[in-house]
Amino acid sequence: MSVGIVGAGVIGLSIGFELAEAGHDVTVFDAGQAGGSASAMNAGWVAPFLSTPRAAPGILKDALGGLKKTEGPLKFQLRPDIGFAGWGARFLISSSRRRSARTTTALHALATHAPRHFDQLLERGVEFEHHRDGLGVVFQHAQNLENYRDVTQKMHRLGYAGTTSVYQGSEIADFDPAISRSAAGVIHLEDERHVRPESLSQGLATALTGQGGELQEDRQVLRIERAPNARWTMITATGARRVFDRLVIAAGFYSRELLKPLGIRLPLEAAKGVSLTARGEGVLPQHPLKLFEKMVASSPYDGEIMRFSGTFDVGDRSEVVSKKRLDMVVRDALEFFESWSPREVEKERAGHRPTSADDAPLIGAIPRHDGLYVATGHGTLGVTLGPVTAALVARELSTGKAEALLWPFRPNRFRLVF
Ligand SMILES: Cc1cc2nc3c(=O)[nH]c(=O)nc-3n(C[C@H](O)[C@H](O)[C@H](O)COP(=O)(O)OP(=O)(O)OC[C@H]3O[C@@H](n4cnc5c(N)ncnc54)[C@H](O)[C@@H]3O)c2cc1C
Repeated sequence: MSVGIVGAGVIGLSIGFELAEAGHDVTVFDAGQAGGSASAMNAGWVAPFLSTPRAAPGILKDALGGLKKTEGPLKFQLRPDIGFAGWGARFLISSSRRRSARTTTALHALATHAPRHFDQLLERGVEFEHHRDGLGVVFQHAQNLENYRDVTQKMHRLGYAGTTSVYQGSEIADFDPAISRSAAGVIHLEDERHVRPESLSQGLATALTGQGGELQEDRQVLRIERAPNARWTMITATGARRVFDRLVIAAGFYSRELLKPLGIRLPLEAAKGVSLTARGEGVLPQHPLKLFEKMVASSPYDGEIMRFSGTFDVGDRSEVVSKKRLDMVVRDALEFFESWSPREVEKERAGHRPTSADDAPLIGAIPRHDGLYVATGHGTLGVTLGPVTAALVARELSTGKAEALLWPFRPNRFRLVF
């Protein structure tokens, strides 16, 4: 079977590798470099514990607050288009207690399998930077730590099997001497992991081509069209046409634009984030840390490199790094550290979290479009869920049947075709 995949982010590359390994004839197209977008600049956490949707009770208050704010990690930018209005309305509906709880259960069920799929990538020789130091959630205020204990209990009730431990007072420096002495405490999620996302994309790209798959970089796909016998034609910006038995759209937020000419409206919006990657001076943290009050992620990598990432700017579709937003992320992050500060900046980047109207992925066949599939909308969890998504999509394409784990993520849970 020939399969064309649009988008060589972590999702498209993971799917490409799985399908190529299963013996299919795979070509992955990317408008830029493989793994060059959000998949290159994120925190790299593989964190099933965090598999909760942003579409949750309280979001309306946050959104109204975020409209007014010029500072703060959350911003909402209203857009004068019907797609945005529709997405926003559905997001609010999905934020009811009942719907949000249902999405959390489904996300958690999928995310539980994530670490095993990372192990399997490593066992199959995919090379990438990978750490098993857990994830520390650092609190400036004791009350927030107490409240978060309830979150850990809730996740355990949902079946989260990881170990959590709490450090307060002088124990914090024993846990990680880089953390500020003024922190109120840390909850260590011991079984979470992190990867360097650029190395993951690179490893997947190498594994894909090693299995005979084709990677076409700097090849923007302009249009897709039906071809006879439920096949699909892909037309690139250079005018090249290729016909495939199956087509998988994994172009992150841009998946929306690609499908629109076919009358398919993916309820997808961009939630922009920024990150800074730097070498620095002072004590480097030993763990990735979620800096709770400021909603900033910090990830240490091999070679004494640190990445700070943050901001959730809904409706900001540009890929330009806002210096002001990035400075805020770095300033906020440094409050949590005893001495580390950036000295030599390696990169400053922006990227989109492709966010669906219930903040859960859109994975599977597009109704009434035989042979056309989508895999996007992974929001804050694209790295975590990339490999498990890929394994399930590859099985669906090979067998024609979706496994039960994917049912809650079917694109047809929304009205897509107009
Ligand atoms: C600041 C930040 C921190 C994050 N931290 C984490 C984390 O710690 N853990 C985690 O699990 N997730 C995290 N995420 C989320 C994660 O980065 C995303 O969910 C993930 O990268 C999405 O991957 P993707 O492959 O869907 O999209 P992308 O990485 O955006 O890839 C899509 C690709 O499609 C290509 N493309 C688009 N249009 C076309 C076209 N017409 N033709 C050809 N190619 C096209 C693009 O060039 C791009 O390479 C974070 C995100 C941000 C912004």
